[in-house]
Amino acid sequence: MAHEDRVGRRGFLRVTTGAFAAGLTIADGMSTSACAASVNEIEEAAARVGHLPHRPLGSGRREVSVLVGSATWAREAVEAGIRCDVNYWHKSNRWRDRVPQEILKNREAHYCEISLDRVRGNHETGDIDEEAHYQMVKRSLAENGLRYYDDMMFHFGFHNVTEAKSNRGFVRAYERLKKEGLVRHLCLSQHNYQGNSRVPGGQSAAEILSAVMEDGLFEHAQFFYSYGESESVQEFVRRARQKGFGTIAMKTTRGAGRMVQDQELMKGFPSGTTPYHALARWLTTRTQLDAAVVEINNLDEFVDTYSGAGKAMRAADVKAIERLAAYADREVCRLCNDCQSYCPEGLPIADVFRYERYARDYGNRASARRLYARLETRADSCTACGKCLSHCPQGLAIPDVLMRAHGILT
Ligand code: SF4
Ligand code: SF4
Repeated sequence: MAHEDRVGRRGFLRVTTGAFAAGLTIADGMSTSACAASVNEIEEAAARVGHLPHRPLGSGRREVSVLVGSATWAREAVEAGIRCDVNYWHKSNRWRDRVPQEILKNREAHYCEISLDRVRGNHETGDIDEEAHYQMVKRSLAENGLRYYDDMMFHFGFHNVTEAKSNRGFVRAYERLKKEGLVRHLCLSQHNYQGNSRVPGGQSAAEILSAVMEDGLFEHAQFFYSYGESESVQEFVRRARQKGFGTIAMKTTRGAGRMVQDQELMKGFPSGTTPYHALARWLTTRTQLDAAVVEINNLDEFVDTYSGAGKAMRAADVKAIERLAAYADREVCRLCNDCQSYCPEGLPIADVFRYERYARDYGNRASARRLYARLETRADSCTACGKCLSHCPQGLAIPDVLMRAHGILT
């Protein structure tokens, strides 16, 4: 990850008097490079965050930390997370043969999830294949020593309700592996496919998730969720809570990363909190989610964000979330796909904005650029015809925002 990608959030942490007042001071000299931090630094970070509360995940009632962890995090943040009782690890197959020793030694105390993509193509063109998914889990376990995965996740999810109900290849792979004691729970992460020109018949995440929940085969799901969420997604979350279907929010930091890099904007930010700290409090106390995951690139970000987990919102946090939501509604695509089918150029608008998020909000510019380079139609194909504009619930100036994203992603 490029150093430039991290400066904004760290810089803000150093200068904000609010962070100091909230007990969120960051030690000078703490390592935020790609090199591992010292044990002392990790211990110190963990002490600042404290122990995360746990909450039942769906009807299985497994107690998971209200903010879960991810194998995509910087290693020192993972080590600090383990000390703070973060006990659910998204994409743990990404560790390959480098699973943290603390997890291997205390395997039953952690829930490790394997995230599996479609085969023979990408999430839009690829297939669900029972045998291939079955073998992927076996191969992964052979290399990492985890012995079993707690959760087997269908990454990106189904294209529409019909596919969710009729294509049982992934479910059959799970059932075979479960009989062998190699997996324990079935889940998915669901993206939006409504209006996606490369996915005929694609439907919205909320529609597909509702059908999957009624079906009863999957125990929980991850999906896009942040401040200013659409009513259809909020309604799904309410019904999931009533029915005991587990919910984990992802893509939670809508615009927060780019906001902290805007020093002018930050000058007026409520003192006593930070964008990510307020986000953590809001996600874990003001929504009906079971849990959420936030991308973390270093120890500073871990302390800033995870120290808010499960803590009540203060006046400053409420104001901060209002400020974040207003900024995001003006500037940041919510990835709903409502516009996409109206583009005569077949431009994957939401994908461009999703990669822009990786670059600007998650500090992962290099991989965002790699993903963007693979798109068949990129943002510079926009002719500014304006046909998408009236379909955006946020009223985003889509052609302008696309051009800006293209500049960042190339
Ligand atoms: S303005 Fe650009 S993105 Fe929007 S419909 Fe026209 S070509 Fe597609
Ligand atoms: S540009 Fe607007 S309509 Fe298109 S995906 Fe983003 S928020 Fe939805």
